[in-house]
Amino acid sequence: MTYDIQPAGSHFIDGAYVEDTAGTPIPVICPYSEKQIATVHAATPAIIEQALTSARRAQKDWAAMTGTERGRVLRRAADLMRERNHALSVLETHDTGKPLQETLVADATSGADALEYFGGLAGALTGEHIQLGEDFVYTRREPLGVCVGIGAWNYPTQIAAWKGAPALACGNAMIFKPSETTPLCALKVAEILHEAGAPAGIYNVVQGMGEVGQALITDPRVNKVSLTGSVPTGRKVYAAAAEGIRHVTMELGGKSPLVIFDDANLEDAVSGAILGNFYSSGQVCSNGTRVFVQRGIKQAFLDRLTERLKDVKMGDPQDESVNFGPMVSQRQMEIVQGFIAKGLEEGARLVAGGDRVGDRGYFLQPTVFADVTDGMTIAQDEIFGPVLSVLDFDEEDEVLARANATDFGLAAGVFTQDLTRAHRMVAGFEAGTCYINTYNLAPVEAPFGGSKLSGVGRENSKAAIEHYSQMKSVYVAMGAVEAPF
Ligand code: NDP
Repeated sequence: MTYDIQPAGSHFIDGAYVEDTAGTPIPVICPYSEKQIATVHAATPAIIEQALTSARRAQKDWAAMTGTERGRVLRRAADLMRERNHALSVLETHDTGKPLQETLVADATSGADALEYFGGLAGALTGEHIQLGEDFVYTRREPLGVCVGIGAWNYPTQIAAWKGAPALACGNAMIFKPSETTPLCALKVAEILHEAGAPAGIYNVVQGMGEVGQALITDPRVNKVSLTGSVPTGRKVYAAAAEGIRHVTMELGGKSPLVIFDDANLEDAVSGAILGNFYSSGQVCSNGTRVFVQRGIKQAFLDRLTERLKDVKMGDPQDESVNFGPMVSQRQMEIVQGFIAKGLEEGARLVAGGDRVGDRGYFLQPTVFADVTDGMTIAQDEIFGPVLSVLDFDEEDEVLARANATDFGLAAGVFTQDLTRAHRMVAGFEAGTCYINTYNLAPVEAPFGGSKLSGVGRENSKAAIEHYSQMKSVYVAMGAVEAPF
């Protein structure tokens, strides 16, 4: 099967595509051809109202089903996503520009994993029993109600599923707003969930810019907000959610350290640095963009890295042999070009890349800077593009302190053959997601999320259940009630 690029409607509400052309048109631009390939319209107040009303209505019945029944729907949706992986991947490639080689293995498949995992857990969600002499307390794990998910543009299918799967497993309804840059794939997640048996209204998708997100998160009918986005947006969304004391999950940006010791396996360390900087053309939140390399291995590391960059193949991302795609948008390309210019200006040594490639498609070369120092802009700010900075270090204590000297705390990694040093390092990292001798894997079974400015809450794993449900505590008295008068 193949999907039409132009969706049947801009929004998916109450089990069907809907349209309201009164909303601001949002052009969908293919990052490879730079051509407009579809148009959607931002949600009008009428559309937002439909989404909220149907989610509110559907949630009660959905929560009244058994966890096993809800889980069955999610697991059916997982199967449908896997069956349609190729069509979904082609669409995601049109939307984001990420190479099909990547989208075939990292997007719908990861979404399907989340649906399968939380589908499996749904029937096992329980409260507990606490005996207090004759009396006892039991707890009920209850849903939060209506959850709003707001996504970034780098992993649109995955984010829509990572937020939807635990929300639905716990008995919530979800209203998801994709990034205006990549509006197409979340609609397919909604369509598949409904085909799998999710009741109308339980997973709605509405399009729009920040204002639509704001309108959703400030509505009193909304109980939880889960954002994947930048720190500045996180601040605004967190503040708006705080007004109504709403639950939040914040998956925000990072500037993560990747520490490579002299004794590391060189080939693996180079692979880790490539995965942590150039996958999805560097547009990954957890990327290890500050690559601290111990002085003894530095030259060998740079030599091998630049050699392996010769295997980068750019081109039409729908061609499965292409392994490096364009930036998602002209704006993102220009932001990254600005950082490269800043790196040169501040005295970093350009070892590879640095330029735009061709004049069609938002392609940037994978770029490596050496001799980067801690104070340089490229070592401090999240770039969200294919720019790797190599920083030198000598000692373990020194590198740990420098690795942590950032307001971000999303991820961190270490390459070494020394077992105890590896565990000492990860114990010391101020980051939510750490790696030893690998980088950037995010299996659904493991908690994923950040500390410090990189966020609050965790996605994936059993930990996500805590962020999509709440406990009700019920005291049961078995004897007479004593009162003072
Ligand atoms: P943005 O923060 O610009 O946007 C994220 C989403 O929030 C978009 O859907 C955006 O809408 C919406 N939004 C913007 N302003 C508001 C507002 N005031 N109220 C409600 N919603 C709003 O991030 P990007 O899309 O540029 O994504 C890149 C960022 O996401 C990076 O910082 C990256 O690190 C982070 N990220 C974090 C991940 C994690 O798991 N920790 C994973 C992936 C990315 P619109 O853009 O349509 O206006």
